[in-house]
Amino acid sequence: MRIDRFSHLDWQGILSGIAQDVEPHLGQGRVADYIPALAEQDPRAFAMAFTSLRGETYAVGQSDRPFSIQSISKVFTLVLALQLEGEGLWSRVGREPSGTPFNSIVQLEREKGRPRNPFINAGAIAVTDSVVGHCGSASPAQTILSFVRRCAGSDAPAIDERVAASERDYGDRNRALGYFMKSFGVVKNAVPDVLDTYFSQCAIAMSAAELSRAGLFLAGGGNDPRTGEAISDHERVDRVNATMMLCGHYDMSGDFAFRVGLAGKSGVGGGILAVIPEVGCVTVWSPGLNAAGNSLAGTLALEWFSERTGVNLF
Ligand code: GLN
Repeated sequence: MRIDRFSHLDWQGILSGIAQDVEPHLGQGRVADYIPALAEQDPRAFAMAFTSLRGETYAVGQSDRPFSIQSISKVFTLVLALQLEGEGLWSRVGREPSGTPFNSIVQLEREKGRPRNPFINAGAIAVTDSVVGHCGSASPAQTILSFVRRCAGSDAPAIDERVAASERDYGDRNRALGYFMKSFGVVKNAVPDVLDTYFSQCAIAMSAAELSRAGLFLAGGGNDPRTGEAISDHERVDRVNATMMLCGHYDMSGDFAFRVGLAGKSGVGGGILAVIPEVGCVTVWSPGLNAAGNSLAGTLALEWFSERTGVNLF
């Protein structure tokens, strides 16, 4: 296993060094302020966690404090939707970088309502629509949450109802994306139901340590090494990771790939999840965002993690 190549590393020491070096950068960037619950976050908060394929978790900072995972949820919903709908999902959503901000609508008209990728908001809403369509009488938001909990091996991940309510209150741009796609037949279910589910999934909260365990199957070829459970299959997980590498950071996906060299997904809550195939999953949380809505200090911390451990895929 590739993790064996890194057995000489002092993972905890590396994380502690990063936490120290990142200190002067905390508070830089801009905390998301489109909803009050996110605007109240401490701009100097920081957490980082790494769970190896051996199942050990190493962590620094406020790594047990739940935060709003926001768009990181899109990775879990994509894996779930592919499981429910199969590869046909790709006829509704592409897998090309968008080069546009996460909530942009500009490409949608030109491309007949088919979003560029599953990680921009439009694409994630189309993917959520797929989950809604497969849930029957079950609650789609609870189905997504249960899946995230299964990945994490814990019931700790929860929907922060206050964040979900604010997402709904300030969600008109996302609703516009939903109705626009519905007019092209890309979204098939009732837009309010789809958006309600989307707002709830964005409001899932969990800690950096839990998130690094939840993402472990993405590094393990679809298997959770702690339980041996197959959460997804190898080929699918490889493809989700490839899509994350190219599209996980919106119009700064190239910058993230250049600096970190790992597949990663960011959220406006300040979290980032990055996957190191056959090695582990590393997460970071720091609410100050760069111009593209990705954690500023978090990206820096991951860049150092990649440099200091040598886990860069290239
Ligand atoms: N809830 C946010 C939205 O829908 C998620 C965006 C993000 O994390 N980039 O706009």
